[in-house]
Amino acid sequence: MPLGLRAVALSRTFTTRAVDGFTGAVGNTPLIRLKKLSERTGCNIIGKAEFQNPGGSVKDRAALGVVRDAEERGLLKPGGTVVEGTAGNTGIGLAHVCRARGYKCVIFMPNTQSQEKIDLLRMLGAEVYPVPAVAYENPQNYNHQARDFARGIPNAIWTDQFDNTANANAHYVSTGPEIWEQTNGEVDGFICATGTGGTLAGTGRYLKEKSNGRTQIWLADPPGSVLYSYVSSGGKLNERSGGSITEGIGQGRITNNLGTFVKDIDGAFSIPDVESVEMVYELLDSEGLYLGASSALNVVAAVKLAQKLGPGKTIATILCDGAYRYQSRLFSKAWLKAKGLEDAIPLHLKKYAVL
Ligand code: PMP
Repeated sequence: MPLGLRAVALSRTFTTRAVDGFTGAVGNTPLIRLKKLSERTGCNIIGKAEFQNPGGSVKDRAALGVVRDAEERGLLKPGGTVVEGTAGNTGIGLAHVCRARGYKCVIFMPNTQSQEKIDLLRMLGAEVYPVPAVAYENPQNYNHQARDFARGIPNAIWTDQFDNTANANAHYVSTGPEIWEQTNGEVDGFICATGTGGTLAGTGRYLKEKSNGRTQIWLADPPGSVLYSYVSSGGKLNERSGGSITEGIGQGRITNNLGTFVKDIDGAFSIPDVESVEMVYELLDSEGLYLGASSALNVVAAVKLAQKLGPGKTIATILCDGAYRYQSRLFSKAWLKAKGLEDAIPLHLKKYAVL
């Protein structure tokens, strides 16, 4: 115990309205109406403020979901180790959950991810292994390395966020019901990008079921991901080619978390990086929201869906995380130039690129 305190039995129960620690603070995020974009489209464009989760991203829900599931199934025992392959946010969520519940945390991540995320993971007590960013088919892929590492040590689990459906289930039991209640069931469209597919499939499946199919579920895809063409071609899986500056999203296969839900997706948009980056700046300027590129991509896609469905509709999306994790890139003039994205920022917004 810090400060030389010894544990004392509680002599009374407190009636304070407080949640229990980190895990109690996950979820129940507000819905934010995006005023300017709602006005421009005549729709109600709303973003679920997932950046307000205590670990700072939508992935806190999945992290808690997979750990709880492993505990309930007796796979994870006190003092155990949680191992995961992650682009960052799941790792950050897991590192928090592990500290809060007394587990060790080991993270394998592609070495293309931002330094902010690596530093944060280490500050949260996780052991981090940046590894070369190679395709899933390659045995050196960060996921396979995480799986093999977990197999090699006792009382360790690989949480397997891509194919462990406890991830999508976390959204089926929380994100979906929250959006349904917050909109009084009046949600015409839900759209978001996928990394593991947990958010889209879990939230989407709940909303489809509750609305008897009335809520349209759409996919927002970054360049280099195969899902846009898969959904729009009716199930043809192309080779992955090209890439995107958006971290944490894009996919080269149908994960277990997307699973059969992929057939229930009503449509898809592919969003070029220039539009996502412009929206990062636009959201900051017009709404005061400092959000990462996947949130911005989701908002661009929500506007496209609003235009498609017509005025008077409610379109919900996910504001996945804050820009804090990417600011050395997204707000750096040199980085934007190196990525050929300088022209993505309209003149009146260039003042925000201060690095
Ligand atoms: N945005 C960000 C910033 C992420 O890190 C992730 C997860 N990697 C996603 C969106 C996508 O979430 P999901 O894994 O549930 O598809």
